[in-house]
Amino acid sequence: MAATDTPIVIPGGTWTSPPLAVFEAMAATIEARVGPPSERDLDSNGLGRFDTVCVRFACGLEVGLSRFHLGGLLRTIDPTTEPSRFEVHACPPDLAHVAFHLALPVDTMSPWTDPDGVPLATVPPPTVVVMRTDDNGNDVEVTRVTNRCEAAAIVREYEARGHKQTYWIHEAGLR
Ligand SMILES: [Zn+2]
Repeated sequence: MAATDTPIVIPGGTWTSPPLAVFEAMAATIEARVGPPSERDLDSNGLGRFDTVCVRFACGLEVGLSRFHLGGLLRTIDPTTEPSRFEVHACPPDLAHVAFHLALPVDTMSPWTDPDGVPLATVPPPTVVVMRTDDNGNDVEVTRVTNRCEAAAIVREYEARGHKQTYWIHEAGLR
């Protein structure tokens, strides 16, 4: 399941706070989702050089990604054959939503924590519910996710299977 929209690049440097999470991925995989870095070889002041890009998806989610040139033990990695370390910023700070747009499992992301160990981004409760009206007219819950983007993609996928059933989305508590 993947998002269908292509994000637009927005000027970088809007995030001065610490990143929300770090993850490892192949550079080519990330470029396929957000495009190439808009700035390269920036100096991180201690962790080596990095490339960065900030994008906005059609839903309004903004994501900033920095790919570090160094891996463990500050060794320069070959990004064509080894996964790179990425830091992610996002507004709103919903890692599940970010993971959906990057087509990555959310559990590949390790949230950053503040000095008290509190995560800077948490996965919000899954309050967006995908519903189905079955052949007998009963409404059945299909699944719950954190954001409408992912819910809409799930509905599209089920509808594409061609079953003559109605799928719809509601937000828990707002019905
Ligand atoms: Zn979205």
